[in-house]
Amino acid sequence: MSFSALGLSEKVIAAVEAAGYKEPTPIQAGAIPHVLERRDVLGLAQTGTGKTASFTLPMLTLLEKGRARARMPRTLILEPTRELAAQVEENFLKYGTNHKLNVALLIGGTSFGDQDKKLDRGVDVLIATPGRLLDHSERGKLLLQGVEILVIDEADRMLDMGFIPDIERICKLIPFTRQTLFFSATMPPEIQRLVDTFLHNPVRVEV
Ligand code: AMP
Repeated sequence: MSFSALGLSEKVIAAVEAAGYKEPTPIQAGAIPHVLERRDVLGLAQTGTGKTASFTLPMLTLLEKGRARARMPRTLILEPTRELAAQVEENFLKYGTNHKLNVALLIGGTSFGDQDKKLDRGVDVLIATPGRLLDHSERGKLLLQGVEILVIDEADRMLDMGFIPDIERICKLIPFTRQTLFFSATMPPEIQRLVDTFLHNPVRVEV
């Protein structure tokens, strides 16, 4: 299996080659074609399996068409911690060097003013922790109606940290016509309920 067989754009394949990756990991080979077909995906995979690139690479491909509008991010990635959010941002910057996309991070500990300025410029990829995202949304500085792709990463850690009510609120703010990509290492009943409520006929990819 090669990266070029998965349907990724030339720009993304060039970035993967520059990163030195020879072939996709199982979660990448399993998930990427479905993300590109705009299917919802339930990925059962742990950190270290190449999970991050399994959503960042096809999202970059899909984002090549279209432009961001002020305060209406095109995609949203929810992470349980600032550190994980920052790592995902690094991935988008690394694989997206040829893309000229606006990537923004909404995490606690950064001033609202700087984050507002970024949102006003139009954001293609917004990476956030749930509480901070809701703070911005409640201040009216962020409109989630335009989100085309929602990623919920590390869902079981979100559960451990008590973020499920926040996730449910965020899911309800985004039109159900979105594509949802959902990753968790384990599937306790609370997580299964979330999947049953907020995903639309998902493809299950387990590694
Ligand atoms: P992740 O599971 O997303 O945290 O990724 C774990 C590590 O694997 C990261 O350091 C990636 O840079 C690396 N990685 C991701 N995809 C590949 C691949 N196809 N081949 C080799 N390394 C990879």
